[in-house]
Amino acid sequence: MSLGHVWLVGAGPGDPGLITAKGLAALRRAEVVVYDRLASSELLDEAPADALRIDAGKSADNHTLTQDETNALLVEHGLAGRRVVRLKGGDPYVFGRGGEEALALAQAGVPCTVIPGITSAIGGLAAGGIPVTHRAVATSFAVVTGHEDPTKPHEGVDWARLATAADTIVVLMGAARLDGIARALIEGGRVATTPAAVVQEASTPRQRAVTGTLATIAEIAREAHVSAPALFVVGDVAAFQQSLAPSALAPLAGKRVLVTRTRAQASTLAEVLRLEGAHPLLLPAIELDRRVDAAATARVARALTEGAYGWTVFTSPNAVGTFLDALFEAGGDARSLARTRIAAIGAATEHALRARGLRADLVPVEAVGEALGSALASHVAGARVLLPRAEGARDVLPAALRAAGAEVDELTLYLAAPPADPPAEVLAAVRAGQVDVAMFTSSSTVTNLATMLGGDLSSLRGAVIACIGPVVAETARERGLTVDVVAEPHTIEELVEATRAFLHARRPARTEVR
Ligand code: SAH
Repeated sequence: MSLGHVWLVGAGPGDPGLITAKGLAALRRAEVVVYDRLASSELLDEAPADALRIDAGKSADNHTLTQDETNALLVEHGLAGRRVVRLKGGDPYVFGRGGEEALALAQAGVPCTVIPGITSAIGGLAAGGIPVTHRAVATSFAVVTGHEDPTKPHEGVDWARLATAADTIVVLMGAARLDGIARALIEGGRVATTPAAVVQEASTPRQRAVTGTLATIAEIAREAHVSAPALFVVGDVAAFQQSLAPSALAPLAGKRVLVTRTRAQASTLAEVLRLEGAHPLLLPAIELDRRVDAAATARVARALTEGAYGWTVFTSPNAVGTFLDALFEAGGDARSLARTRIAAIGAATEHALRARGLRADLVPVEAVGEALGSALASHVAGARVLLPRAEGARDVLPAALRAAGAEVDELTLYLAAPPADPPAEVLAAVRAGQVDVAMFTSSSTVTNLATMLGGDLSSLRGAVIACIGPVVAETARERGLTVDVVAEPHTIEELVEATRAFLHARRPARTEVR
């Protein structure tokens, strides 16, 4: 029997990207994941699909597991020989009761490893725009629990002693008691005009921050309906919040960016956006519904081998992938394309070809059908041209090729259909007008999104609309959107870059940095 192992893993303050590399490695190999309320669902998706996921905040009969029950659960799965990840918000040993769990495991003889995490007390504060120390402003900090009631005697935290003991005081679990805590600190001798701030749901798309002074912060937070989980910070560093807020430092930071590409294609774009500090909302608006006709593909494969096609033209990376897969299934492979010349609409398609060991003979300067048509015009007179592509694609290219004297064979590969079950919460966020930037990388993502939203895109009116090229932009305009950004050249990298530049130019006048 295998000896089990429990990893106590710090998940970081909220942003799933803020787990450690080691924590992620443990999670990806887990057989059982025991998580708490602060762990993000995106992180849970990193565990193997068949891993057992247990919410320690909720048992079968819906009560919150007691600490003893959680300890027993970890011991039980550990003794059963499983790889268990205990995923905890922030750092496992900062008010996470990780110490108790490690002791229980040690006592039961279950091997255990602690993988530290970024605590919200420091990292969450930073994400909210507040440095926990700052030269000449704060040279010490204290992290305390606000869970105990400061108005009751015999409580754990000695607020009076703490009040002036550290330059920065960070209170966790104190959102419901801001008033009492602030009063206790003032009574303990902390100056009432000391800057203070509350950061709610730090490092998540829902992050909010309010600032004031020790005397005013409780009232300000109440009026703004600030709620848990939140960090309450007292000290001169809190005054930096305005100038060091993420949105003051980078144009895309904190922006909710709607990404409408297919699931498979969205990940690179989402990663680039996350590094900019943005929160990608993934709503794949197209799903490739394969429409490959085996008999038609076999005919094409034969014609290609016979050298019948002067040119084969690809207008998207998806077309390259689907066509080569279909060709392979029909008994052909890359060699079937030995006697045809190959054209690609743009860099991404060229890249997809290269990944399959094929070189594009022609790529137009601008990645649109019109440019591809005119670039090919002087080459295709009298030739047969193969055009493997999506059902219902635009007619511009085949029309231009025919006008230039080519005989065009279209081979339908797939239909870019709206997805069967789009993520409900993202759809709800779009409907509620919570999107700051919407990115469109193909016309079908625009039309399909409109379909998914019941026919109209009016909930995106307040958002910055960014399109990869002029054709997509035209489709967006036809749907009533005002297009703010058109990437030039029409690549994903440039789409992000142009959006950044647009937001940067639009930023409010620089606030004074002290
Ligand atoms: N182990 C955790 C703390 C657990 S106690 C850590 O190291 O961060 C739970 C408290 O942490 C919450 O009540 C709140 O005060 C704070 N907290 C955790 N995540 C937070 C977040 N994303 N934003 C604001 N506060 C957070």
